[in-house]
Amino acid sequence: MKTVTLIEGDGIGPEIAAATVKAVEAAGGQIAWERADAGAGAVDKHKDPLPQATIDSIKKNQLALKGPLATPSGGGYRSVNVTLRQTFDLYANVRPVQTIPGVPSRYSNVDLVIVRENTEDLYAGVEHYIDPRRTAAESIAIITKFGSERVIMYAFEYARKHHRKKVTLVHKANILKMSNGLFLDCGREMAKRYPDIQFEDMIVDATAMKLVIAPEKFDVIVTMNLFGDILSDLTAGLVGGLGVAPAANIGDSGLAMFEAVHGTAPDIAGKGIANPTGLMLSAAMLLDHVHQDEAAARLRKGIHAALAKAETRTGDLGGKANTASYTEAVIAGMR
Ligand code: NAD
Repeated sequence: MKTVTLIEGDGIGPEIAAATVKAVEAAGGQIAWERADAGAGAVDKHKDPLPQATIDSIKKNQLALKGPLATPSGGGYRSVNVTLRQTFDLYANVRPVQTIPGVPSRYSNVDLVIVRENTEDLYAGVEHYIDPRRTAAESIAIITKFGSERVIMYAFEYARKHHRKKVTLVHKANILKMSNGLFLDCGREMAKRYPDIQFEDMIVDATAMKLVIAPEKFDVIVTMNLFGDILSDLTAGLVGGLGVAPAANIGDSGLAMFEAVHGTAPDIAGKGIANPTGLMLSAAMLLDHVHQDEAAARLRKGIHAALAKAETRTGDLGGKANTASYTEAVIAGMR
């Protein structure tokens, strides 16, 4: 039995979290959930979007499953997602993207994984206006050897562990010769340690085009924060959109936080019609991570069975099912 911190989150979070907990249990996952608050709900309850008790729970368990958290635009509190990422140094964002039979999309043969560096680059938050009248601004992309090596090594290790053949490092080193050049150099050096894995590098604009023309040519992609942010939404779009996209945030010492890629969906919150697939597939990644392989396989089998039929798909995928009936179909599909 593994204890995992469960943050239900805001908006549709509690609905999809309940569905996911039910599906994990039906799949035979040996998980004891320790509930903790974060986001807008935690502000109402504890006057703090990220209570210390939540941080302590994640620290203790080293594992978390997280629903979406509302971030106020402009003023208000800082993004809890960013704070969590920084507090636990969750440097690798892993997003597998796979065609799921039955889910409407333009492609039928996508099976790739994006490993995005999560802490550096233009997202380091170093920016300023360079004149008092604020007519010009500067944002600094920080790339370090330490940050590059650890995420690139993670990508190679992931490839080896998951029997994948190729790592593509995506960059813009032809223009950003120092920052992106450093990331590329780290990749070339690291590739020497993994002779069993094919290595290539690709300029980001060419990658965007190739992903749209021939996504089946990609296997594991490793890239910096900004390119990873953009390309991972692009690739989610190749297989039916955000509703079915899972993610893992991995830190040192094995701490890992799993979450759906989508947000709180305020427009449909409380209606019982949200699609819990993204969070369920994130829970399957969590089961993989704790070596509960049979439960993970059973959960994925159920999800694929429910998505294969129009009548058991949720509204965002063109079906008529609600969260509860979809979850029942997932559980029935495990048998
Ligand atoms: P969103 O992903 O919440 O919603 C975009 C659209 O997709 C909406 O029409 C929504 O109904 C639909 N949608 C999303 N998930 C769905 C699901 N599971 N089932 C069915 N339909 C679904 O994006 P947004 O509207 O830009 O953001 C809303 C809030 O979520 C904001 O406060 C934002 O900061 C936050 N957010 C949080 C995370 C996170 O916690 N990881 C990620 C993205 C956005």
